[in-house]
Amino acid sequence: MDRLAQPLAGQPIIIGAGLAGLMTALHVSPEPVIVLAKAPLASASASAWAQGGIAAAFGRDDSATLHASDTITCGDGLCNPHVVERITCVARSAVEDLVRHGVVFDRNADGEFKLGLEAAHSRRRIVHALGDGTGREILRALTEAVRQTPSITVLEDVEARRLFVEGGKLVGVLALARRGPLLLPSSRVIIATGGIGGLYCATTNPLGSIGQGLALAARVGAALIDMEFVQFHPTALDVGIDPMPLVSEAVRGEGAVLIDDTGERFMAREARAELQPRNIVARAVWRHLSQGHRVFLDARAALGADFAARFPGIAAACRTADIDPSTTPIPVRPGAHYHMGGIAVDDQGRTSVDGLWACGEAAATGLHGANRLASNSLLEAAVCAHWVAKSVSGTTAQREGKLPPVAVPQTADAGPVREIMARYVGVLRDRAGLRGAIEALRPIAFSTGAAADAATVGLMIATAALLREESRGGHFRTDFPHLSHRLCRLSLHLGAGDVIARSIPVASTAVSVGG
Ligand SMILES: Cc1cc2nc3c(=O)[nH]c(=O)nc-3n(C[C@H](O)[C@H](O)[C@H](O)COP(=O)(O)OP(=O)(O)OC[C@H]3O[C@@H](n4cnc5c(N)ncnc54)[C@H](O)[C@@H]3O)c2cc1C
Repeated sequence: MDRLAQPLAGQPIIIGAGLAGLMTALHVSPEPVIVLAKAPLASASASAWAQGGIAAAFGRDDSATLHASDTITCGDGLCNPHVVERITCVARSAVEDLVRHGVVFDRNADGEFKLGLEAAHSRRRIVHALGDGTGREILRALTEAVRQTPSITVLEDVEARRLFVEGGKLVGVLALARRGPLLLPSSRVIIATGGIGGLYCATTNPLGSIGQGLALAARVGAALIDMEFVQFHPTALDVGIDPMPLVSEAVRGEGAVLIDDTGERFMAREARAELQPRNIVARAVWRHLSQGHRVFLDARAALGADFAARFPGIAAACRTADIDPSTTPIPVRPGAHYHMGGIAVDDQGRTSVDGLWACGEAAATGLHGANRLASNSLLEAAVCAHWVAKSVSGTTAQREGKLPPVAVPQTADAGPVREIMARYVGVLRDRAGLRGAIEALRPIAFSTGAAADAATVGLMIATAALLREESRGGHFRTDFPHLSHRLCRLSLHLGAGDVIARSIPVASTAVSVGG
């Protein structure tokens, strides 16, 4: 087994090269840092696929306070208001920071940012790039910036597979490179591995987004939190492509409406109709599909011939299925899109394990509560990368620990888990289905097979979903369709043969809109 070349040993290691990982690396510099990416830079990360944009209160009619208030309303009682305030207050400077790193956002003739509108935002505040290519532009610029920073060493096609702790402290990472396993000693590791959508067979995420960082952290004793809260995007393009291309909320923001195969606009009678929070729209679409209908997003009247100019990426995805959105409604269905839960972190991104930080979608900061407000995740990744980097740089590297010999795991595979998650832990859940999922996932999770990590994350999601006997935010139980009066968050640990859960009471933080 190779050890990392001596000059690199002991440097902080960032696992993941999306917005969170790359931005953390840039903030850590000029201190030397290593980035592990299981795919080549700027590919296979959700960041590169982001369409709508990044939320920040630039509008004259807007303020950080309004942005915070929309975030808290959407989070359905479980946002940490302190975190919401901290992040929304610096949203504008996070966008300006990205501009300094070379990101070119779309602007009006007068030079101001063009601002899009998305569901559950009370103002136009979505800063975007290349129309619907925000993530592509952000990753282009950050990849270039990272490549030009000599203190950052990027190891591409290297997949982190295990963390090591000694005496409760992080001492290193086991990774798989093309030429074999690699032992990387370090007392400072940052998990930035993104989301979990790839655990479901209908998803908008890259197929490699299978929550590997969550499994790595759980296996060394880190606490995970809010795991039951998965956001299903209501409008994933339903033409048999895996993963499903996303049809951004911004299309509804521009006036497109949901219709069914009879042409009926089935959400028209509800207040804010299709611009309600994602969880509500996703459930309405799911129920309509369950009644045997097909569902379409109709942009003909709202955008017509302008569609391809405003949403070139979506128009291109539609073209691959011979659909022209200017003349034809777009077939859609919900897909697993974003995970509000993840590795529990404090306000510096520190996890419960000494020497381990988490950032981006893999971390649960408390910003999103039970339901993420659209375009708040790029914002969270950009802002928290700064805080994490500051904390990492302020921590002295420990003497190199001893990495124990271990069996080398296989490349991770979520295949056996995807159908179980989609069937039982999806948009609508109930006790019987969740119990079935847990029974099916537990033996895989505690095996040594390639699907063990994916099953571990799935098991933790299903366990929390079973324990939460209410419907809140992204979590909907058909057998408990209402909000509970007891507001709590669920913290989970991985035990010897099971998942151990702890309920943390929460003081009421917001007016609740879920159910
Ligand atoms: C289609 C789509 C559209 C979206 N649109 C928006 C939007 O408009 N606005 C918004 O705010 N949010 C949006 N989101 C959500 C947002 O893109 C993500 O939440 C955010 O980009 C996550 O960033 P990240 O850096 O945490 O993770 P990612 O960008 O997913 O990066 C994770 C990285 O970790 C690597 N990795 C994973 N496991 C390992 C491992 N074991 N070893 C080494 N490397 C590993 C991956 O290869 C990747 O490089 C969208 C998501 C999708 C899927």
